[in-house]
Formats: sequence, structure tokens, C-alpha cells
Amino acid sequence: MAKLPYLGTALTNLFRKPVTIAFPAGEAPAAQPAYRGRIAFDASKCINCGMCERVCAPSCMTRVAKPLEGGEPGDQEITFTFDMTSCTFCGMCADFCAKKAITLTEDYMMTGIIAEDFLVTGKVIKKAPPKPKFTPEQLAAMKAAAEAKKKAAEAAKAAAQQA
Ligand code: SF4
Ligand code: SF4
Repeated sequence: MAKLPYLGTALTNLFRKPVTIAFPAGEAPAAQPAYRGRIAFDASKCINCGMCERVCAPSCMTRVAKPLEGGEPGDQEITFTFDMTSCTFCGMCADFCAKKAITLTEDYMMTGIIAEDFLVTGKVIKKAPPKPKFTPEQLAAMKAAAEAKKKAAEAAKAAAQQA
């Protein structure tokens, strides 16, 4: 009788559990620790310093400012957008963010059918600096008045010493 090579192995494997993961049919396996996946942006922590934009080598994150609707003159609404289709997940933006407003999550399930599915966005409100209490002209007048008063006081003091 001719030998049937691998028959034993075939029979053993027939009753073995699969070594592969039934994905996407099954549950998505967890990412490895410290995996750098989809970016999460916490706009409430951001101070709009712009460092993240400067260190992003592929320029996949942008900040676009527009006047704040219903705000005071000079108030701005800044939209942050991180494009996951060109992000290299290097983590530089998160490393350089002093406010820890950016994190790279363990989410690797980045699928979509339109470009917007791959964008992570957030809005930051930048208030205009408060208006100065006095105009430059008023400040100059106040300074001149203070100097005149000081000089008059010095003159009066000198006159009193001579008397
Ligand atoms: S996310 Fe961080 S680094 Fe980027 S502008 Fe905001 S505070 Fe600055
Ligand atoms: S992880 Fe890297 S490539 Fe992606 S947005 Fe941040 S700096 Fe840019």
C-alpha cells in the first residue's frame, strides 16, 4: 500500500482550532500597547500655539481661522483638522503639545468611503485681546501731566529750602 504522506498532519489539523483571527467577522483584536493610531484632539485644552502644525512633517494638519460668528470684533474661530490619510502617526504633534491636547489612540480601524471619514477636527475660540482703557494720546497727556506735577513739586521743595 502506497504511503500517504502528510495524512496524519492533515487529519490532526482537521480538528484543530483556527490559528487565525476571524476578523472582521469577529471582535477586533486590541492594539499593542503604545500603538499610535487615530488622533484624538481635545480642543478644550488647546491654546492655539501652533506648535503641532510646525512639527508635522507631511503637513497633514491645518489650522484655519475665521471671524467668530456673534463674537466681538477680533474674536476668531479656529478649526483644527488632522487628515488621517496623510498622517504618518509619528506622534510629533502630541509630543510637542505642551497642553497634552493631542493623543494618538489605539484605534486602528480607520475605514470610510468619503474623505471626511478620515478627518479629525476640533474648534478653538480665540478671543480678541481686551481693548486698552486709554488711547495713546490720553496716555501721553497723562504722562505729561504727571511729569509737570513732579517738576512743580521739586520746584516748590527747592524754593522752601532756600527760604
Ligand atoms: S494642539 Fe497643542 S501644540 Fe497644537 S496649537 Fe493646541 S496647544 Fe499648541
Ligand atoms: S502624528 Fe505626525 S504626521 Fe500625524 S498629524 Fe501628528 S505630526 Fe503630523
